[in-house]
Amino acid sequence: MDPVQHAIAQLARFPSIGKRTASKMIFWLMQQDPQVATDIGAALCELPTKIKRCSSCFTITHEEQCPICANTKRTSNIICVVERPQDIEKIESTGAFSGTYHVLGGSLSPLEGIGPENLRITELLHRLKNDDIQEILLAVDPDTEGDATSMYLAHIIKPLEIQVTRIAHGIAAGTEIEYANSNTLRQALENRQPM
Ligand SMILES: [Zn+2]
Repeated sequence: MDPVQHAIAQLARFPSIGKRTASKMIFWLMQQDPQVATDIGAALCELPTKIKRCSSCFTITHEEQCPICANTKRTSNIICVVERPQDIEKIESTGAFSGTYHVLGGSLSPLEGIGPENLRITELLHRLKNDDIQEILLAVDPDTEGDATSMYLAHIIKPLEIQVTRIAHGIAAGTEIEYANSNTLRQALENRQPM
């Protein structure tokens, strides 16, 4: 395969990058100093070996524990449950939350065959049994799968006498947390509702 077409096809595998954008990126890259392509390639190449999951919250990190879990100044008795690692960055950008996180790795979706055993729910329960947790704040997407996930988690966590709340629905239904407006997300965190 032509190396240019091959590079375009590889970049087009990214979400929201179509063939057109991929081709723009590659043609731009070929006008730069060759070192630029080498640097970009090298940075991508080292990801699979250098990146791992935080042993507490399962976000992506290059250390045993992520900087948030390792920070002893964070409030340790509240865990915010999110679907993906990038949701943490978004919530952190609001400055409205000072606890720790737990990355589920998706949401319950019978249609796509994703059940509780496919999410990091056992790992969450393990944390609840070992740490002194008083509140679980659910920051899953406000869609059907997020609703099902919230109801399921509230059902299994409430008997442990831990308060379960969910971020308020200031966020329009169907919006992914990652793409929510920061102000709206801050209000949703502050106005969280008991489940
Ligand atoms: Zn962590």
